[in-house]
Amino acid sequence: MSQSLSQTTCRIHFDRPATARCPSCQLYYCRECITEHDGKKTCAACLNEARKSAEKPKQTQKGLRFFQPAPILQFAVAVIMVWFLFYLIAKTLTGIPDEFHDGTIWKG
Ligand SMILES: [Zn+2]
Ligand SMILES: [Zn+2]
Repeated sequence: MSQSLSQTTCRIHFDRPATARCPSCQLYYCRECITEHDGKKTCAACLNEARKSAEKPKQTQKGLRFFQPAPILQFAVAVIMVWFLFYLIAKTLTGIPDEFHDGTIWKG
């Protein structure tokens, strides 16, 4: 294990020997590039990713809160859809020839 580390250089600093391997991206880094996070030695890039992913759920929750008046909008859209449907039906009914209203089609 120590052999592979001494042979490997830091991913960012090519002149420096790697002292630790990031468990997330499996890449070798020098002491300067590795940060301890939650008891794990993580590289700066993965630490940033971890922070981003930790922040993301909060943002989506905020987004959900922002979109909470959506049911009202959905209701409005539904009303418009129903109105449009009735409008279409009314238009279709008025467009139907007289025989249909006479019931001749139903009688065959
Ligand atoms: Zn990493
Ligand atoms: Zn480094």
